[in-house]
Parts: sequence; C-alpha cells; structure tokens
Amino acid sequence: MAQAPGPAKLDHLLDRNVAWAQRRTRDDPTFFVRMSEQQTPKYLWIGCSDSRVTANDVLDLDPGEVFVHRNIANVAHSSDMNLLAVLEYAVNVLRVQHVIVCGHYGCGGIERALGDDRSALVDFWLQPLMMFYRKHKAVFDALPDRRSRLDLMCEINVEMQVRRVAATPIVENAWLHKMPLYVYGWVYGTADGLLRKLGPTLSSLAERDSLVSIDDRLLMPVEPQSGVRQQAIDAFTALLDGKSSR
Ligand SMILES: [Zn+2]
Repeated sequence: MAQAPGPAKLDHLLDRNVAWAQRRTRDDPTFFVRMSEQQTPKYLWIGCSDSRVTANDVLDLDPGEVFVHRNIANVAHSSDMNLLAVLEYAVNVLRVQHVIVCGHYGCGGIERALGDDRSALVDFWLQPLMMFYRKHKAVFDALPDRRSRLDLMCEINVEMQVRRVAATPIVENAWLHKMPLYVYGWVYGTADGLLRKLGPTLSSLAERDSLVSIDDRLLMPVEPQSGVRQQAIDAFTALLDGKSSR
C-alpha cells in the first residue's frame, strides 16, 4: 500500500522558499521591507486556475503588483461571493483601475464544457458555457476541427466574462461615480507565452451598453491586434520551430 505523504515530504518547497527569499534580498535589500508596508497593485487579474497561467509570471510583475482571482475557466458568476469580494476590494479599497479577464487556449475547463461528461461538480460551475455552446452548436460544428472549436470558445468565454464583470454593481457603481476603471479581455497562449487582446476595452456604462450581445459577437471576427504588437508577435512566433503559434 502506498504511504500517505507526510509533512517532511514538502521540505523541498520550504527550502526553495528560503533560497528565493535570500535571492530577492540579495538582489534588492529593501524588497521585503517595502512588501511588508502595504500592497499597491495597479491591476486585478481574473484568470483560470490552470497551473501554467500565473499572473505575475505572464505579466513579468513582482509580488505586490497584481491582485489576483482565479477559478476554473475564469468564469465571473454574478453570485460568486469570492469573485465579488475580490473585485470590490480591488476597486474600492486598493483603487485598482485595470481589471484584466484572461483566459487561455487549451483550457481544460472549456474543453470539458464542450464535451458530454456531466459527472462532476465542475459541471455546475461551467453551466453557462455549456448552455452557450449548446445554443450555438451549429456555429461551432461548422469549424474544421475540435481544436478550432476549443480556441473559439476560449476566446468567446473571455468576452462573455468581460461583459459579466462590467455588469456587476461594483463596476457599475465605479463608472456611475466617474472612477477611472478599465475592463480588458485577453487570452494567453500556453504554447508561446504570449497574451492577445480580445474585444473592446470597457471604461464606461455607455461603452458597455453599446456592445453587441455575446450571441451576436460569436458571429463576428475577433478584433485583430494593433499593428506594432502584431508585428512583434509574428516575429516571435516565427522563431518557434514552425510549431503552432498558440
Ligand atoms: Zn483553464
């Protein structure tokens, strides 16, 4: 019978922590002094729990620079007290002005929503995505393969969640009081480490209310990257051994 892991089994993680703290202090002697005083993140990241998509790494930011909420498939349920508390604290206390909803290609949560298995608790969590997929199955079925369907759903899910975040009373209240607050939708490529912008950035009630519905959005092409950034992405992906750019 396999032995249950004991506390000592994780000593290597504690050792890594000590080495990390020593390295940080050596590189920046006042780093932890500053960290202990207060956090002043400029960004709130709403992302997937996927272990490959960690906000600080992807954005190349230090501890203290990004406030984070993650769940399976970066879903913004309007009744999720966890998300709402994080969002409220970020906007009203930390005065974060940039809310980034970030999905990723190859998302296991999205893949499950597109499948037939409904045997786990996560299926309740993913229900809005399943319903959307079922409603528009003909559009997805017209795509050439499963990968294309998954990619499209990953992108559409981000835009759906951007709309949901922008519909929360927290964001509405901020915009009503003319607070500067931007909501972005991005998607991350686990195969190249690059972020891609999706859809419009929202900064007011008027912008939000002028959006087409997510159902109509499905039938529109995803907005292209702006020129310079697209050139940089093209140059980088050309280096990736001719593999998939995602
Ligand atoms: Zn995911």
